[in-house]
Amino acid sequence: MTKKTKYLRAEQIYSRLEAAYPDARCALDHKNPLQLLVATILSAQSTDKTVNLVTPALFKKYKSPKDYAEAKVPELEQMIHSTGFFRNKTKSIQGAGQMLVEKYGGKVPQTMEELLELPGVARKTANVVLGVAFGKAEGVVVDTHVQRLARRLDLTKEERPDKIEEDLMKLFPRERWIQLAHLLIHHGRALCYARKPRCVECPIEDLCNSPDKTVPS
Ligand code: SF4
Repeated sequence: MTKKTKYLRAEQIYSRLEAAYPDARCALDHKNPLQLLVATILSAQSTDKTVNLVTPALFKKYKSPKDYAEAKVPELEQMIHSTGFFRNKTKSIQGAGQMLVEKYGGKVPQTMEELLELPGVARKTANVVLGVAFGKAEGVVVDTHVQRLARRLDLTKEERPDKIEEDLMKLFPRERWIQLAHLLIHHGRALCYARKPRCVECPIEDLCNSPDKTVPS
């Protein structure tokens, strides 16, 4: 495939998914950057649905970074228990709250570099916060759906999320980076399942040559 064909194909995939999922957006309920940061930390190894069940009570009880910094560990652990890995997540959320208070004047920072300093925050979480809360495209969110779909659609041959992200950033213009992740995640949830994807209904079936396809290419 020439470079030009590769870019054209990527653009086609994007526009078809955009037409199919015009309302694709972040599925984590939140009203401010702090809530999104906490919800994204909780979403690791969990589902957005589970996180959305936990956060209403959590956000009612803890409203500021100081609240999280001063939270009683057993109480916080109990509230987020159902999202899994609750001990580590409690440590991350409390540590992030402390750092926000001590270093960032109680505000969620708006740069990749600063966000990556917060405990429990890697590039995926930082990209979610920057893209969704601040509209800043510093990279592409690579979660399990994006990872799977980018490989199925031959947008990358890499396996590691950071390498996949680099490939997607090269292939798509910066103004697409935020929505691209929403579209791929949406498609992964709607049809392109990890097991038995619903390829007959897929709007980009003719552009996909994945061996995982459930209809012949
Ligand atoms: S054709 Fe199937 S495997 Fe390919 S993107 Fe569509 S749903 Fe996924």
